[in-house]
Amino acid sequence: MSDVDDHDGPPTRPIVIAEVPPARALRGLPASPGVAIGHAVVFDRRSVPVARRSIAAHEALAELGRLLAAIARSRARLEALREDLDPTIDAEHRLVLDAHLLMVKDELLVSSAEAEIRGGKCAEWALRTVADDVVGRLAQAKESYLRDRAHDVEHVAEDVLRMLTGAGTELPPLAEAAVLVASDLSAAELLALPRDKVLAVVTELGTATGHTAILARALHVPTIVGVRGATRAVETGQIVIVDARRGELHVDPTTEARASAEDRADRYRSFAGRLRESRDARTALADGTRVELLANLEVEVELEEALDERAEGVGLYRTEFLYLDGSLPDEEHLTEVFARVGRAFAPRTVTLRTFDLGADKLPRGGGLDASRRLAELAQAPNPALGLRGLRLALEMPEVLRTQIRAVLRAAEEAPLRLMFPMVCTVEEMREARRVVDHARRELAQARVPHRMVPLGAMIEVPSAVVLADVLANECDFFSVGTNDLAQYALAIDRGDPTIASLASPMAPGLLRMLRPVMAAAQTRGIPVSLCGDMSSHPLAIPVLVGLGLRALSMPASEIPFARAVCARLDLRACEDVAKKALACATEAEVRRSIVARLGATLGDLWDEHGLVL
Ligand code: PEP
Ligand code: MG
Repeated sequence: MSDVDDHDGPPTRPIVIAEVPPARALRGLPASPGVAIGHAVVFDRRSVPVARRSIAAHEALAELGRLLAAIARSRARLEALREDLDPTIDAEHRLVLDAHLLMVKDELLVSSAEAEIRGGKCAEWALRTVADDVVGRLAQAKESYLRDRAHDVEHVAEDVLRMLTGAGTELPPLAEAAVLVASDLSAAELLALPRDKVLAVVTELGTATGHTAILARALHVPTIVGVRGATRAVETGQIVIVDARRGELHVDPTTEARASAEDRADRYRSFAGRLRESRDARTALADGTRVELLANLEVEVELEEALDERAEGVGLYRTEFLYLDGSLPDEEHLTEVFARVGRAFAPRTVTLRTFDLGADKLPRGGGLDASRRLAELAQAPNPALGLRGLRLALEMPEVLRTQIRAVLRAAEEAPLRLMFPMVCTVEEMREARRVVDHARRELAQARVPHRMVPLGAMIEVPSAVVLADVLANECDFFSVGTNDLAQYALAIDRGDPTIASLASPMAPGLLRMLRPVMAAAQTRGIPVSLCGDMSSHPLAIPVLVGLGLRALSMPASEIPFARAVCARLDLRACEDVAKKALACATEAEVRRSIVARLGATLGDLWDEHGLVL
């Protein structure tokens, strides 16, 4: 028997039981589907890997010298950092650096490490031993002040260890195709990795709605996030299987486990292949009600797939990905890219979103002024509530204006719409419109060919939901971003894997927010679409259609599945499901009511999709 079995339940009971993984398998959150097998490259940004090398007595002096030199370099770095601080605003930061400086000069730390070296350990091993000992004792202290110091000691020790080993905080270059197992990985870092060298990605941090996961899906890199202890459980060079449909990482797999994983991958490919057979059909419910399935786009390489899956337009083009390499694209370049994407889809519409930077989307590097400013923003006490989205864009008027001019110019060539992320107030929306009007006047005065585009707001914070009726007067369309809406409505950090599962699209606290948005859009007669991950969730699709949504935007790879789901539904059933879902008090009740009403209709599709209920 294989170590992990599929459960092909009968259609009327579409429940896949999550089985206990075998001993050498770790679990995480499936973030981008696929199965990959390969050698691991482990990268732990937080903890330097330390070789346990024994030394002979005559080497002790040289090792001590290495340790003292590393301490001196670490001290010099901390002092330089401290010098650079702005005395008026960085008082707290200065105190932390002062504390670290004191620790790095600590006699006891040095003399304890020296004793370890004389006892036969290399410098790195000696320092790690002493630091682990101090951290262990501090962590058990009764006073919280002392317990907090444990992190400082860890931090200081890691810094000296980096000096000793030369380990950086940058990703190592991948010489050969490998599975990257990392403590964390930003979207910008993933974007910079050579595509042919990354078989799969596993991270300890992150969630399925985080932007690294979104990009991984766009690039078809099988990815599991939130795998606790992955960097400790795997060593560079070991063979691993990444089963990213199930969220399982197998270390040193048996031959049977490999065969089983390959078999599952084949079965999923054939399921996906069968779904694609009907891709020429326009999407409609069984009763003929039309539902538009649009593509989400992050990088241009996805265009081909979106066209291939017969997306009926682009519902969300995340243009911020053009900025993640740390460059600031100019107007000409942006105009070309937007016109190219627009032309590829014409006469269908492409909806661009102005750059939604901040929080978990920050450019690499920081060489440019704008990038440096963004790097500073990452230091905000809570970046998810800091300058991000439209709020940030309005703080960088030149960058925003450049982008908007490019959109208006590209609209000469193809039907485009423009929307703004994270609209929180009516004032912001008005300000955004003013920037567009200004750009328009400039272009007209300079006789540059351009065309006005419909302007929309993303509804992704609770204040926008509450203000939907008045916001609708300021907008030509709405697009609901349920990834952020879940984060802000349910107070669940979308980057935190320990609580990610609480941000369910079935949460009544989220679902009920859709009704006022739909009502406001209907009253004012403006179109509304939904572009968060919820739009392709196997259980959510009928609810969304039942609530009145007729345009769902999703990763192109999800379109065939959503089309198959729609084809089996009729509007009456969807409206019934939506009504019942909105009457439920709990997430579990919502799930149960959908399964009870539609299990017989959709059970086999849910099952093949791998839905775990
Ligand atoms: C969302 O928040 O739902 C959304 C579509 O935008 P993003 O995921 O890029 O934040
Ligand atoms: Mg968002």
